[in-house]
Amino acid sequence: MTHVVTLNSGSSSLKFGLFSMQGDEPEAICTGEVDRIGSPAAHIQATDLDGRDLIDETSETIVDHHSALDHVLDLVVRQFPGVTISAVGHRIVHGGPDNDGPVLLTRDSLKDLERFSPFAPLHQPFNIAGARAAMERFPDAVQIACFDTAFHRNHPWVNDTFALPTEYYDMGVRRYGFHGLSYDYISNHMAKTAPLLHSGRVIVAHLGNGASMCGMISGRSVGSSMGFSALDGLPMGTRCGQLDPGVVLYLMEQKGMSAAQITQLLYRESGLLGMSGLSNDMRTLEEADTPATRKAISYFNFRARRELGALAAVLGGLDAVVFTGGIGENSSLVRERICADMGWLGIELDPDANADSARVISTQLSRVQVMVVPTNEELVIARAAAQICRSPSNCSVSELEFSSHI
Ligand code: ADP
Repeated sequence: MTHVVTLNSGSSSLKFGLFSMQGDEPEAICTGEVDRIGSPAAHIQATDLDGRDLIDETSETIVDHHSALDHVLDLVVRQFPGVTISAVGHRIVHGGPDNDGPVLLTRDSLKDLERFSPFAPLHQPFNIAGARAAMERFPDAVQIACFDTAFHRNHPWVNDTFALPTEYYDMGVRRYGFHGLSYDYISNHMAKTAPLLHSGRVIVAHLGNGASMCGMISGRSVGSSMGFSALDGLPMGTRCGQLDPGVVLYLMEQKGMSAAQITQLLYRESGLLGMSGLSNDMRTLEEADTPATRKAISYFNFRARRELGALAAVLGGLDAVVFTGGIGENSSLVRERICADMGWLGIELDPDANADSARVISTQLSRVQVMVVPTNEELVIARAAAQICRSPSNCSVSELEFSSHI
């Protein structure tokens, strides 16, 4: 096996990576993104291993995920002649209640994953469309699905349920949790670089455009802030985070809003964007520094602090906090505010290390170690693809069945 392509399809975007499988660990030789798919301003951008631009152009011909993949394929063939794509790894948001690890994809198993589209209507259909397009474009490659929900699937039952009659649990109304690929990466990274902390009680704050927190013991998910959908928990770029369900009833019954209107409000018009009235982008809000942007940032930090305390209680104490995601990795202001006055929990930040976004940003005396670790979801997908492909029994797609966990 030589190379793996990783794909992460959003509604109008396609992130991709090309990994060499020559060594023990997959090595990224190219990463990039096609965005604004379907608009005349569709754009493709990619860089190589050294961060050099391989392409950075707009194209009117990227009308859907199929044509986006064609552009990616053209790029790979042009820039890396002679590579053989043995496997394509897909990020798929929802694996349902049973998938707790990566699975091989066939046309039938992909069809089966459509069952979970109603659970994640804004993500799953696009993930599946991306995988279908890849099957057509890379017909000889093994296709692998890595689920955002899988990392949490073995969390305790109390974190899996809502207080509804049990028939709702049985029909799939459960707390699934998301951002599993990111948590998987951090857990693996800590096992290698900080094994003692990894074996203890760790809270990972994945703070990006989407944001959630996960409490882990010995690298396994014990509880997370996201639940049934990718809406719950922390406020996000455009999503509301935790919301009293009574608000939804009020909007429907008293304000006559339709499900589609409420979906638009909660997924696309809320969070940092809705509160600031300016932008979903934390950097823009920090730079603007107006009363409205300060309020939006304060709420973001307040909810993160609340979730941190709640997860520490679930874990029965705390040994480490890890910040990751675009905001977690880069915003010293947000990290400082979230960790402020947390001495009671054993957290003491080192202001200089925090300003530098150093790997460890707590003081030497801090009982809880606070770290900044850049996440790498693509590498998690590439590793899963390599692992499946290296097992000879897994290399014939036709023999495989859906849900064959590795
Ligand atoms: P996604 O969930 O789309 O993968 P990212 O993890 O890339 O999102 O995070 C995007 C967020 O990170 C944006 O809100 C962006 O403003 C924020 N961000 C990136 N760099 C900085 C920075 N230097 N300071 C503050 N926020 C930042």
